[in-house]
Amino acid sequence: MANLTNKTSRCRRNKRRTHWVLKAPNLVECPHCHAFKLPHRICGECGYYKGRQVILSKE
Ligand SMILES: [Zn+2]
Repeated sequence: MANLTNKTSRCRRNKRRTHWVLKAPNLVECPHCHAFKLPHRICGECGYYKGRQVILSKE
């Protein structure tokens, strides 16, 4: 098994973990049905994108 040559200090370990932050997904309102959706993606509720229907919706 591999052995450590240099022990990581608390400072270095904590500095590495500064990038662990979780971010909430960016949500925009669908202009057609006003449900929240991801930007630049087809709306999951109505199937609209760029003002026209791209996929068939549930109803
Ligand atoms: Zn929609």
